[in-house]
Amino acid sequence: MGLLLKSPPLAARCRDKLDGQLTSPACRSGWSFAGLKAAVPASRTEISRQSARATCPGHCTSSHQASQIVLPSPSQRFAAGDSPVDAAADKLMENAKEKSLAFQPPFRHFATQAIHVGQEPEQWSSLAVVPPISLSTTFKQEAPGKHKGFEYSRSGNPTRNCLEKAVAALDGAKHCLAYASGLAATVNIVHLLKSGDTIICTDDVYGGTSRYFRRIATEMGVNVIFVDCTKLELLKAAITPETKLVWIETPSNPTLKVIDIQGCADIVHKHKGVLFAVDNTFMSAYFQRPLSLGADICMYSATKYMNGHSDVVMGLVSVNDDALHERLRFLQNSLGTVPSPFDCYLCNRGLKTLPIRMRQHFHNALAIAQFLESDPRIDKVIFPGLPSHPQYELMKRQCTGCPGMMSIYIKGKLENACTFLKNLKVFALAESLGGYESLAEHPAIMTHASVPKEEREALGISDTLIRLSVGLEDVEDLLEDLDQALKAAIPDYRIRN
Ligand SMILES: *Cc1c(COP(=O)(O)O)cnc(C)c1O
Repeated sequence: MGLLLKSPPLAARCRDKLDGQLTSPACRSGWSFAGLKAAVPASRTEISRQSARATCPGHCTSSHQASQIVLPSPSQRFAAGDSPVDAAADKLMENAKEKSLAFQPPFRHFATQAIHVGQEPEQWSSLAVVPPISLSTTFKQEAPGKHKGFEYSRSGNPTRNCLEKAVAALDGAKHCLAYASGLAATVNIVHLLKSGDTIICTDDVYGGTSRYFRRIATEMGVNVIFVDCTKLELLKAAITPETKLVWIETPSNPTLKVIDIQGCADIVHKHKGVLFAVDNTFMSAYFQRPLSLGADICMYSATKYMNGHSDVVMGLVSVNDDALHERLRFLQNSLGTVPSPFDCYLCNRGLKTLPIRMRQHFHNALAIAQFLESDPRIDKVIFPGLPSHPQYELMKRQCTGCPGMMSIYIKGKLENACTFLKNLKVFALAESLGGYESLAEHPAIMTHASVPKEEREALGISDTLIRLSVGLEDVEDLLEDLDQALKAAIPDYRIRN
């Protein structure tokens, strides 16, 4: 890691310079958007309330009376001449001074490592600066058994190596392994277990994970128990001598429940031989480092933020323990769950912009969350970057910021939710998440349709729940798009223009 800034005087000078820049408008986006809500939404809520009061003194809720409510357009709801982003950034700079309001600082050297670790030109005879896509399935040996680290592409591939080294650095890990998909990564991890072992899985996990655990792993003799790991005492009580793996996902999908990673790790590691795995897909390595919070395994569906361009299906697993790495490497080769060199190239390329993408996702999502939270056509916004989120303090303690995922409950019924989704023009109506493009979906009908209705209701996945993956478009366009779709879905509210 010769890339790190080693000389303190230089680092100190750089920091001074950076600190100076942070107050300039060009550097206003970033992790430290914490605490924004304190000022911005208050004033925006105030505006909405004033307009509501002006036209509807009784804060009426019936649709007849509500039709008199006049809402300002999204741009009117921010100070004239200011983009919502600038207004938000100004408040941020004020609030960031108050340390208690801030998320954790960004991981040092992250962007430099994303660009350089594992990409050394000296590893290629051509000195290629960008790692080539190595498609060859086999590698010539100088003498039987004498080779340069590559024999057959399933057991090792030069392009895959570049990606794995970069991701290990970004997770603050010793090792990383890449897989054909997020689920392939999960399958490999479960193959560390044997029949008779027990997995404790948090009760609100990705549907594919739940399906694999319930319908396949159990058929192979592995017991799976689902526990609400947001309640640490439930996790503590569930561990038995048979427990060999504890699996959590935070924030959860789609209701964005947050789990205390360190708290779980402390409980799990009181028991010898139990592995603690965190599905870090929603956060990406930029916003959350499970290994440094005590997890043994950090897993991703790289299909989402890590690749970030919605053009690769892939999984990643980072670990620190050498023996665990060796066993996973054996399983990766033996199960054959490897990604293609072309996909490795794309994901490796996606990592180069991970920091700036994640900062912009946070930035756009926060502005949208604030806009929707102050909108009377929305019942509730769930966004872990808002102080209204029940685990906001925990988020700030264990994360450096928030990704673009949020869930909203729209006023009305299923029809209103569907009309809203059909009328979106910039947001695409589609499953998946974490790409540069904004997506919207209806969990009850789409991603979580296989969850029985009663369980869905218990998890809060109602007919009016909509999940947004906020992308990297201009935030003003996203706000206008949401506003016009809300107009179509709930026409009783007239918009002043
Ligand atoms: C998509 C997803 C997975 C599964 O990953 P694939 O790459 O689709 O196999 C696992 N966990 C989470 C949180 C996901 O969003």
